[in-house]
Amino acid sequence: MKHLFQLLFLFVAALAAAQSNDASQLGKPYVILVSCDGYRYDYTARFHPPNISRFVEQGVQAASMISSFPSKTFPNHYTIATGMYPEKHGLVDNTFYDPARGELYRISKRSAVEDGSWYGGTPLWVNAEQNGMVAASFFFVGSEADIQGVRPSYYFPYDGSIPNEKRVEQVLEWLSLPESRRPHFISLYFSTMDDAGHRYGPGDESQISKALLELDAVLGKLFEGVKSTGLPANIILVSDHGMVDVGPDKLINLDPLDQDGRYLIANNGALAHVYLKEGADADSAYAFIRERENHFRAWRTEEFPYYRSGLQNPRLGDFILLPEYGYYLSDSRRIAQARNGQFRQGGEHGFDPEIPEMHAIFYANGPAFKAGLSIPSFRNIHVYPLICRILGLPIPKGIDGREEVLRGILAE
Ligand code: AMP
Ligand code: ZN
Ligand code: ZN
Repeated sequence: MKHLFQLLFLFVAALAAAQSNDASQLGKPYVILVSCDGYRYDYTARFHPPNISRFVEQGVQAASMISSFPSKTFPNHYTIATGMYPEKHGLVDNTFYDPARGELYRISKRSAVEDGSWYGGTPLWVNAEQNGMVAASFFFVGSEADIQGVRPSYYFPYDGSIPNEKRVEQVLEWLSLPESRRPHFISLYFSTMDDAGHRYGPGDESQISKALLELDAVLGKLFEGVKSTGLPANIILVSDHGMVDVGPDKLINLDPLDQDGRYLIANNGALAHVYLKEGADADSAYAFIRERENHFRAWRTEEFPYYRSGLQNPRLGDFILLPEYGYYLSDSRRIAQARNGQFRQGGEHGFDPEIPEMHAIFYANGPAFKAGLSIPSFRNIHVYPLICRILGLPIPKGIDGREEVLRGILAE
């Protein structure tokens, strides 16, 4: 009941702010971008979820979609939303420090998550709204923030406890609005596979298939509901990254490094950023850390090979700590909790996106797409210009994604 009121309130609040489609946008198709957090590329072939499998067979499927480094939730959602690598759009990790602001960003800090000044680039919903096209979001990283002073006409602050079915019902309601107020770009987000992957590990066949069937049932309702609107609506199913089994015995204790007051560490598990404090000597701090390497390696950020754009974003820090594949950076408190069973340590992600277990999904279906087409793996920076092309939106200069990479999947 609480959720219902919450939803009603937010919806009314959102309605008050809603703009309407410019006349030039009225004849345009619709795009629903659905993110299934942590859906590893091989789950569909392994578990045959019926609705997703049918959707895939009748549409376009990529062998996999390759995440951007690091293969974490916030950097990758926002890469899909902007067409930029994380070191360019600025959400370089789930937790990071901004030396110029003197502040930490973290996904549980609502004041930062909702503050548009942390976010670079022009996310799809901002691009749409700036061009007189109504956009809506039932969750997507960045969509609660006033980026460039713009939010989607309809959106909700993140609340993971809102049932998946409610999210789908809301999307279908948006599609039944009068044409002038009906959003042409809609984002939707489910954490089901990420939750199960972390808890049980991707190798747990029974738990992963159970979660996938739950998600598949909800997606079935979305596919069915969208179809029955008769609108020229296209659904794109993506994920942000894969998942690999990491048991409690593979956690690395970083506390011995923390004892040094010369720097701040933002630990994201699959990597950690080290920010030198003012006046600290870089060489001796680096030597101090390197002497304590233990199933991880320390890099000077300018020598670190995983950032593809070559940009030196100060948010990356002075040094980067990278665990050996299969290990995960942690601390003594969490390690004790994992080992005495206070929480289940099953799977993790964030590692090198080229590693197959980190690969994500890309499936698309609708009148804009060819039917029954399989394509090779591609990078997630290319989704943005694809959606711009379908919706007839301008492609901002300076993004990393290129329109020609996915042009061939369109039916045009
Ligand atoms: P992680 O696995 O740590 O990379 O992050 C996944 C978690 O991010 C999910 O379990 C969600 O609870 C959380 N999440 C997803 N979207 C948002 C959002 N817009 N605001 C806050 N948390 C979010
Ligand atoms: Zn994720
Ligand atoms: Zn996760």
